[in-house]
Amino acid sequence: MRKFELAEPRSLADACFMLASDADAKAVAGGTALLTIIKQGLLLPKLLVNLKKISDGSAITFDPVQGLRIGALATINEIETSETVKRYYPALAEACHVVANIRIRNMATIGGNLAHGDYQSDPPTVLAALDARVELMSAGKVRELALADFQLGSYETALQPGELLSAVLVPPMPSGMTGHYVKFTTGSSEERPCAGVAALAKIDDGICRELRLAVGAVSAKPVRIAAEQLANGELLTAELIANIASEAASSIDPIDDVRGPADYKRHLVGVLTRRALENIANGKTESQS
Ligand SMILES: Cc1cc2nc3c(=O)[nH]c(=O)nc-3n(C[C@H](O)[C@H](O)[C@H](O)COP(=O)(O)OP(=O)(O)OC[C@H]3O[C@@H](n4cnc5c(N)ncnc54)[C@H](O)[C@@H]3O)c2cc1C
Repeated sequence: MRKFELAEPRSLADACFMLASDADAKAVAGGTALLTIIKQGLLLPKLLVNLKKISDGSAITFDPVQGLRIGALATINEIETSETVKRYYPALAEACHVVANIRIRNMATIGGNLAHGDYQSDPPTVLAALDARVELMSAGKVRELALADFQLGSYETALQPGELLSAVLVPPMPSGMTGHYVKFTTGSSEERPCAGVAALAKIDDGICRELRLAVGAVSAKPVRIAAEQLANGELLTAELIANIASEAASSIDPIDDVRGPADYKRHLVGVLTRRALENIANGKTESQS
């Protein structure tokens, strides 16, 4: 492993300054993705800017009007165990709970998860269903982007040189909306997803008022499924669920990878969508799914 310098800024602003001043600098948060890449010799930064010594970058706060703000340095475990997230955004807690294993979840940050841009990830799929936005900070400037515009493709994001992801912003969920994240792995349960489906629905007197469906890990970035509209104003019957699941499967454009061929993933998306919608229709709570 090549030698590198280590900088330990105490604020995001200082970290941005360091990254902007050196084209060979790279931010490191939990290191779970970056250090593997460095060890493989795929990236050889001269300067690593360690974000973990920044004290104010991991707060998780909720406001009924503004919604949820997750500091980019919050670990996946801090999100899955946050009482605020569990109460107001249980599907997000559910998705974080199934990331890797507890050792990884204790180190990995949500900022690193999104900035790394690996399509085989769990949290981005739920965040897509939640209409999340990201806050990006550079020297003297803060901007916001919809998550869909931040993730440009596989390992590709809208981050500019010298820019850091500082927070994830999630609008308040419509009252009464609940949902699930369902993941399938082809290896052990700790592995990255082969496919993941997030389904959120608002049901009044058995009628679905709003459905949000997102599919992730099967193509370069999570996608919202147009067939979510089919449920509006309808009872979530077995027939409707089967129809939406079939539309979800046929609308995606999966890629072949080590976790399975495209046709297999298409089939999986149909099965996972049906399961997620059945859980909602049967009124199952997150922990029962
Ligand atoms: C064995 C294993 C199993 C895994 N399984 C899963 C899984 O099941 N589901 C899943 O979703 N993920 C999984 N992951 C991925 C894991 O979630 C990510 O590696 C992790 O979230 C990255 O976060 P980090 O803080 O460690 O990032 P780092 O490794 O520190 O950084 C990753 C990249 O993001 C950049 N970066 C980090 N923070 C910021 C920031 N705030 N702003 C801008 N750029 C930043 C770094 O420069 C680097 O390019 C797994 C990883 C491993 C090693």
